Amino acid sequence: MVKETKFYELMGVAPDATEAQLKTAYKKGALKHHPDKNPNNPEAAEKFKEISKAYEVLSDPQKRQLYDQYGEEGLSEQGGPGGGMNAEDIFAQFFGGGGGGGGGFGGMFGGGMREQGPKKARTIHHVHKVNLEDIYNGKTSKLALQKSVICSDCSGRGGKEGAVKTCMGCNGAGMKTMMRQMGPMIQRFQTVCPDCGGEGETIKDKDRCKKCRGKKTGIERKVLHVPVDKGTPSGKKVMFAGEGDQMPGLEPGDVVFEIEQKPHSRFIRRGDDLIYKAKVHLYTALAGGQIHIQHLDTQPRYVVVNIYPGEVIQSDSVKMIRGQGMPSERHHDLGNLYIQFEVDFPEHVQPLSLEQKNGLKSILGLPPVDTSKKDPEAMDDEDGPLEVDPLTEPIPQGAHEDEHSLEEPENAGSRGATMEDDDDDVPPGAERVQCAGQ
Ligand SMILES: [Zn+2]
Ligand SMILES: [Zn+2]
Repeated sequence: MVKETKFYELMGVAPDATEAQLKTAYKKGALKHHPDKNPNNPEAAEKFKEISKAYEVLSDPQKRQLYDQYGEEGLSEQGGPGGGMNAEDIFAQFFGGGGGGGGGFGGMFGGGMREQGPKKARTIHHVHKVNLEDIYNGKTSKLALQKSVICSDCSGRGGKEGAVKTCMGCNGAGMKTMMRQMGPMIQRFQTVCPDCGGEGETIKDKDRCKKCRGKKTGIERKVLHVPVDKGTPSGKKVMFAGEGDQMPGLEPGDVVFEIEQKPHSRFIRRGDDLIYKAKVHLYTALAGGQIHIQHLDTQPRYVVVNIYPGEVIQSDSVKMIRGQGMPSERHHDLGNLYIQFEVDFPEHVQPLSLEQKNGLKSILGLPPVDTSKKDPEAMDDEDGPLEVDPLTEPIPQGAHEDEHSLEEPENAGSRGATMEDDDDDVPPGAERVQCAGQ
C-alpha cells in the first residue's frame, strides 16, 4: 500500500506502474504541457512542473520507495524543499540526454531552428486543378489564400515600442545551455529557455499589442491572380515571389501554384495533340457518314469528321485532323486531333435471307452462296460461328492452335469470355474463334 497517490495521479498511472509505463506517461504529459507548446498559459506551465516533479521522484527507485512509504513529506525531509532538478532540466534529460532517443528537444518542436533557421519564411505550395477547356482558351484564376502577415498595429514587435525586452535568461537566443552534475562529471546540454519559452524576448502583459496579443503576426486573406495561359502544360509551376507568409525577422515566403489539368470527358491531351475516341456503328463504318465532335471553345463548335462511302472504318483505326489539337504553349500553334475509332457491332441481327446474304457477299467482294449442297462455306454460314466446337470439330485451316491451349477447361466453356478476359493470356483462343467463323 502506498501512503499517497498524488504523484501517480498526476502522471495518470497506477501506483504499481512499471518503469516503462512511467516513461510513456511522462513523455505524453510533458510534451502536452510543455511551455513551448502552450505559450502564455500559466496553467500548463504549472502542470508541466508538477508532472516533471512527479516523474523525477517516481523514476528514481530510492525516491519512489520513500514517497510510497512516507508520501511527499518523506521526500522533503530527505532532500530538502525544492530539492532536485527543475522541470526543464528533467525534460531535457529525458529527451536530450542519454538513451539515444533521437535528436533531442530542438528537433522535436523546431525550437532549435530559430537560431539558424532559413532567412525566408516557408513557401506555400498549392496544386491548382484546371479544366482542359481553360487550358485551350486560356484564363486567369483568382485564388484566395490565408497567410500570416506582420501585425500592422505593432509592426511585428508584439507590443509597445520599447516594451519588448530581450530575455535576460538566454540573451535573446531562446535556447539556454545548462549544466548538471552527474557524479564526478558535469554534463552540458541545451534546452529551451524557460523564461521566454524560446521566444528570446519578454513583454509585460500590459504592454502587449492588443491586436495580435503579442504574437506579432495575424492571418490575412489574399487573392492572387494566377494566369493559366493557352497551352499551359500540366505540371507547370507559377511562382509569386514574396506573396507567402510574413514572419518577423524573415523574408516573406513565396507562393507556388502547380497547374494540373483535370481529366476530360471527351479528349485525352498528349502534348499539343488531342485524342478522341469515337464509337461508330458498323453500318456507318461500312456505309459512311459523319461524326460531330464538340471542341473545347467557349461557344460550342463542332468538328465534322467524314467517313466517305467506300472507306471502311476498322476498329482501332485512327484518323488525324490537322490543326484541331491544343494550342502550343509558346506560339499557340495548334496541334492535331486524332480520332481513334471503335466499331460498334450490333448484338443481334435478323437471320439473313439468301438474297440478303448474296447482297452482303457482293458488297464484301465474296462469291455468291452456292445453293448446291455440301458447300462447306454455305454450311458454315448457316450454322453460325458459335456452333462450331473446336474441341470436337476439326480445326479449320489456318488456325494456329496448339494442343495445350485446347486442353484448358475454361476455353471449353464460353468462347466469348475467352476472348474478353483471356485475350492477353491465351491469344490462340481468340484466334481460334475468328478462324472458326470463316
Ligand atoms: Zn501587434
Ligand atoms: Zn529566454
